[in-house]
Parts: sequence; C-alpha cells; structure tokens
Amino acid sequence: MRVLVTGGAGLIGSHLCERLLRDGHEVLCVDSYFTGSRQNIAHLTNHPMFDVLRHDVTVPLMVEVDRIYHLACPASPVHYQRDPVQTMKTNILGAINMLDLAKRLGARILQASTSEVYGDPDVHPQPESYWGRVNPVGVRSCYDEGKRGAETLFFDFHRQYGLEIKVMRIFNTYGPRMCADDGRVISNFIMQALSGRDITIYGDGQQTRSFCYVDDLVNAMVSFMDSEPGFTGPVNAGNPEEFTMLQLAEQVLNLTASVSKIVFRPLPSDDPRQRRPDITLAQQMLGWRPTVPLSEGLVRTIEYFRHQSGRRR
Ligand code: NAD
Ligand code: UDP
Repeated sequence: MRVLVTGGAGLIGSHLCERLLRDGHEVLCVDSYFTGSRQNIAHLTNHPMFDVLRHDVTVPLMVEVDRIYHLACPASPVHYQRDPVQTMKTNILGAINMLDLAKRLGARILQASTSEVYGDPDVHPQPESYWGRVNPVGVRSCYDEGKRGAETLFFDFHRQYGLEIKVMRIFNTYGPRMCADDGRVISNFIMQALSGRDITIYGDGQQTRSFCYVDDLVNAMVSFMDSEPGFTGPVNAGNPEEFTMLQLAEQVLNLTASVSKIVFRPLPSDDPRQRRPDITLAQQMLGWRPTVPLSEGLVRTIEYFRHQSGRRR
C-alpha cells in the first residue's frame, strides 16, 4: 500500500515509517521539521520505497495514497507552548486538511490523539469512556483542546461522510530519537544525569505518568490501522505501569550511575497529577499489550543519548 505518515520525522513517526517500510509498504513522510529532524529519517532516505515532502499540514495537500497516519503536531509541552496559536492551527486545520484528503481518496485515516484529552483526570486509571477534565483556557489548552477538537472532526467526518477513521489516545511515549532539548521528563532526566547536572523534579515529584516504549506504541498503531473497519476507537495505547516522577528520577540515576543531585522546581500550571491508561479495549480488540518494561526502554534510550552526546563532542 501507499501510506502517508504526517509528522514522519518525529519520534513516533520515524519509527513508524521504518516499520511500514519493513512491512513492504510505500511510505510518504510529510513533515515541516517544526520539532522533528532530517537526522531521524536520514537512514531511510535511500530506501527505494521512501519519499519525503517538506510541508506544513495547516496547508491543504494533494497526494495519492491508500492510508494516512496523521501524527503531525508537537508533543512536548515546551514545544507546543512555544507557539500555541500554531499548535491549535496544526491540530484543527491539519485535521481538516488530512480528513479532506482522506475523503477525496476514500483512504482510511488514523489520528494520533492523546491522553491529554483526559486533562487532569479525576477517574483513575483512564478508560476511553471518561470524558476528561480539561481547562479550556490554560497554557496546555492549545494542545488538549486542539486534540479534542480534532477527535470531534474525525468522528463528524465518519458520521457525515462514512470515512474510515481510527482514533488512538496515546499515553506518554519515549525512546531513541526523542529530542534532547524538548523538555519532556525522560529526555530531561537522562540528559541531566549523563552530564552530571541537577535532576529537576517539578513539584514534589509525587505526580505519576505511565511510559510506553516507542516500539510497543508503533505495534499498537499498525494493529489498529489494520483492524476491522467498524472499530473506530477511541482506543487508549500506553503502558499501564505507573511511576512517580521521583521514582523515575531514581531509576535514571541508577541506570546511568550518575552523580547528579535531585532538586525541586515549581510545578507548571495545569500539570496533571496522575495518568495511567486502562488498556482493556486495546487488549480485547487488538490483542495488544506493551512488552518493554520501563527499565529496559530506559537503557535503550540512555544508550541513544550517550551516543548522540558523543557525536556532538
Ligand atoms: P514529535 O514532536 O517528535 O513529532 C511530531 C512531528 O510533527 C515532528 O516531526 C514535527 O516536525 C511535525 N510537525 C509538527 N507540526 C507540523 C505541521 N504543522 N506540519 C507538518 N509537520 C508538523 O512528537 P511525537 O512524540 O513523535 O508525537 C507524534 C504524535 O503523537 C503527535 O501528534 C503527538 O501529539 C502524539 N502523541 C505523542 C505522545 C508522546 O508521548 N510522544 C503522547 C500523546 C500523543
Ligand atoms: N517533569 C519534571 N521534570 C522535568 C520535566 C518534566 O518533573 O524536567 C514532570 C512534569 O511536570 C510532568 C511529568 O514530569 O508532571 C511529565 O512531563 P512531560 O513534559 O514529559 O509530559 P506530560 O506532562 O505532557 O505528560
């Protein structure tokens, strides 16, 4: 099949492109390089079935494909809050443009949605049936509400035009090719530990997250795209193992044998206190569950950052 991956030069997108090529598909990667990089896909550019187009999804796109994975959007709070108006445009105009394209082509389309649609949740763990607790006017709203608006558009295109949609709510995902300076907790802690700088915990470190290794997440995405047409989701994808940020910091310190000290910094506003996916639906419908424990995923990610820092020196 001819498959379009928007945001294909990012963390998840680059691993997805690699996987789709391995499965024998023709892949068109579309990216504006807002947060992704050419380096993430450099090893694929000589592949005979791989094409790259520099393009911003807020502008309509005319290409011929059979399937669309729509991932284009910055994912880290530091990046998406840098230009919140652009983030909202990417979420809403990007969704409209990709849905219009899918409608014209009769193509199946998958939306990379997020656990952020649950906001700061008062239901724990979060099942897909939970409608969330989101601040519509806060600093995270450009992302949270943008992704919620995009989900609405996906379901309206499905109901109104019969479009084949797949909406996946992705929980914190990490791995090699994360941006070293994207401010996300895993990249921050690893970079700080490797360079001997203080490990910055925001707040008291008791807030929780559940971290999914990128290969596991890509497996879920591909299974979902290939699932029966009637299964639209939304479906959660993430690793249900839950950790406090203090536990994460301690794991990173141990695995890097670092001399860094833990310091506490103010908690950013609207920072969710807890997050853990209920993945019952993904298990039932896709037969999927993550297989890479945090300790193992961290070792692979630490290796990647070590290698990257070595190359920079
Ligand atoms: P990333 O920042 O590494 O990748 C996003 C990619 O989208 C980048 O290559 C970026 O350049 C590109 N992009 C951004 N705006 C664009 C635009 N207007 N036009 C074209 N390209 C654009 O992030 P990621 O972690 O790989 O996330 C991929 C998708 O998954 C995003 O939609 C994100 O919201 C979603 N998601 C990720 C996580 C996570 O923890 N990684 C969690 C929930 C949801
Ligand atoms: N965090 C932290 N130190 C950092 C970066 C982040 O303690 O250097 C915290 C952040 O406040 C949040 C959690 O780690 O509670 C996850 O943050 P991240 O930005 O990775 O993802 P998100 O908040 O979008 O889940």
